[in-house]
Amino acid sequence: MSDISLAGGCSCGAVRYQCDGEPVMAAHCHCRDCQRSSGAAMATVFAVPKAAFHLLQGKTSTYAYTGDSGQPVIRHFCPTCGAPLFTEVTVMPDLQFVRAASLDAPAQIQPGMHIYCDSAQPWGECQDGLPRFPKLPA
Ligand SMILES: [Zn+2]
Ligand SMILES: [Zn+2]
Repeated sequence: MSDISLAGGCSCGAVRYQCDGEPVMAAHCHCRDCQRSSGAAMATVFAVPKAAFHLLQGKTSTYAYTGDSGQPVIRHFCPTCGAPLFTEVTVMPDLQFVRAASLDAPAQIQPGMHIYCDSAQPWGECQDGLPRFPKLPA
């Protein structure tokens, strides 16, 4: 286990989680579900190996929708305060995707790309020079 500790939780404090080690990727996601569930132009997410993710406290509610793979994507959020927390993607079973803004110290994450730019909003464009992908990187 590295010395980076990625700890976070929801707004009301009922749900807490911790990740061991470094994220394997981090991205700004412009998909419609991230837009709807955040109310913003994009959601910033990172991924860690599933084994490195630990739910420490609380119980989440879930909402399952169909990803563009045709397989379910299961989004977890706090049933009390509604804060979006993490996501399981059926076609990527070894990874846990986590909303970066739910971290205690979100600046720990350094996003490296924009994904699902096909549905990016004109008022949500970033001129940050990061690679942009219509959906996921190939
Ligand atoms: Zn909460
Ligand atoms: Zn998304």
